[in-house]
Amino acid sequence: MAAIKNILGFKASAKSKNILQGITAAENRTTFYPATRSEINEAMTLAAGAFQTYRHFTGQQKAMFLRAIAEEIEFLGEKLVQTAMLESGLPEGRITGERGRTCGQLRLFADYLVEGSWVEAVIDQGNPERQPLPKPDIRRMLVPTGPAVVFTASNFPLAFSTAGGDTASALAAGCPVVVKAHEAHPATNELVALAIQKAAKRTGMPEGVFSSLNGDYKLGQALVKHPLTASVAFTGSHRGGRALFDLAGKRPNPIPVFAEMGSVNPIFILPNVLETQSEQVAEQIAASVTLGAGQFCTNPGLVFVPEEWAEDFAQQLLAALSQVQPQCMLNQRIFESYLGSLQQVKEQHQVAILYEGEMQGAPFIRPSVGLAKAAVFLKNPHLQEEVFGPFTLLVSYAAANSLEQIANALQGQLTASVFAEKHELPHYQNLLNALQNLSGRLILNAVPTGVEVCHAMQHGGPYPATTDSRFTSVGTAAIRRFVRPVAWQNFPGALLPEALQDGNPLGIWRMVDGAFLK
Ligand code: NAP
Repeated sequence: MAAIKNILGFKASAKSKNILQGITAAENRTTFYPATRSEINEAMTLAAGAFQTYRHFTGQQKAMFLRAIAEEIEFLGEKLVQTAMLESGLPEGRITGERGRTCGQLRLFADYLVEGSWVEAVIDQGNPERQPLPKPDIRRMLVPTGPAVVFTASNFPLAFSTAGGDTASALAAGCPVVVKAHEAHPATNELVALAIQKAAKRTGMPEGVFSSLNGDYKLGQALVKHPLTASVAFTGSHRGGRALFDLAGKRPNPIPVFAEMGSVNPIFILPNVLETQSEQVAEQIAASVTLGAGQFCTNPGLVFVPEEWAEDFAQQLLAALSQVQPQCMLNQRIFESYLGSLQQVKEQHQVAILYEGEMQGAPFIRPSVGLAKAAVFLKNPHLQEEVFGPFTLLVSYAAANSLEQIANALQGQLTASVFAEKHELPHYQNLLNALQNLSGRLILNAVPTGVEVCHAMQHGGPYPATTDSRFTSVGTAAIRRFVRPVAWQNFPGALLPEALQDGNPLGIWRMVDGAFLK
């Protein structure tokens, strides 16, 4: 197979004399041309040029583009499914599900644009007669920030990658996108990038609205430092996300890096629920821990169980986990990182490994479970570190342990779950308050895996889960990462954006003099 080229606007480009190899699950690894300095510069210059027109495109025009991307991805058919399966080692059902999610979220953003109220138009009408001073006419709305750099994620080759949630939300906002392809699925990336390129051409988008570059971490750093980059979206490791965040902060003009860096998603099991449903809860948690070989940022890595139930619950969990067939990890790098993290847990004082699924030869694995007492957990911050893979740590708490104290000792999380009987919840209000303070999504009697793509979703939490807890990377609110508010003061109607003009030509919801009106 020929080495994969970069996609620069409407053309393919391969200027490098070197060829690099991907780090895919398949043994027959894909090769690619890493982007050169001039290709990086060309992609960013094209993106900045495209921004000058694309930012003024109507919601209808951008919606047409997003829908065309979804169609072009669907036209790829089996070829895309087979390529993604080969590169990621993920099963067919997962890839087709992810393709559905990818196209579904593109169409959701398209509908959101057509509805139009997302620009948050606010109008305070002027009053020249006001005493002692005239009141100015002030009108505010959200506008796109500029070219966005999107780092694709290894664990979601479609839904958090080339045409995933970050790209969809940046394009919806009116920002051109330059993708930094992941070395874990370069061929999948190329197929989707070409689909986006086709969609851009057939819907009359400006060249440069989308480019995709291949390379290693040096490419990522060059893109973050590039003067024409306005924002960065990232999903991956804490180390990578933090390095890019710091790099962006050191630029002469710092830019935002919206990094989603995973978390351990604690689950608190309250005593009464185990009296009636312990087996069902254990099965649900086992399924969540092993979903996608545990390679999810919402994987439940910590489960707090009442001490008197810990032994029985552990047995039920192990029984459910022992049914799970060996699973293929995404690539050798993630497999080795999983083994390394597991080893670190084993080395911790007073942590027992209850079950260590037999390894089947890289990169196939089985799940593992650890056990520690709450007092041990509270003294050892290493036990809060993410083990990216099918591992969970059971932490047994005694009646004397305050769950609120445990929750307050946890670092920022994407999610926090509670399994409880309805009648016992009111006695745990302090725990619920503490969990609200530390996480982006509170879940009752369900597991954290399976992030719904919808308007109300919050996928982001206090640091270190993300670099900015005010934003989400899933759902339509993800668009807010790529916009900023601008106010117009005393402008005549003809010079205002349509969203702010008198008569509301777009028919959107707006706040006018303090009241929401259409
Ligand atoms: P990663 O190492 O964070 O890499 C993600 C992307 O960021 C890649 O394109 C990578 O480039 C780039 N990158 C990482 N560090 C960088 C740096 N210092 N400077 C510039 N670019 C950098 O994630 P991964 O390779 O997908 O998986 C490794 C580990 O990340 C996993 O074992 C897991 O712990 C974690 N992870 C978390 C999530 C999550 O959902 N939060 C998802 C996936 C992985 P190169 O690959 O080209 O070096």
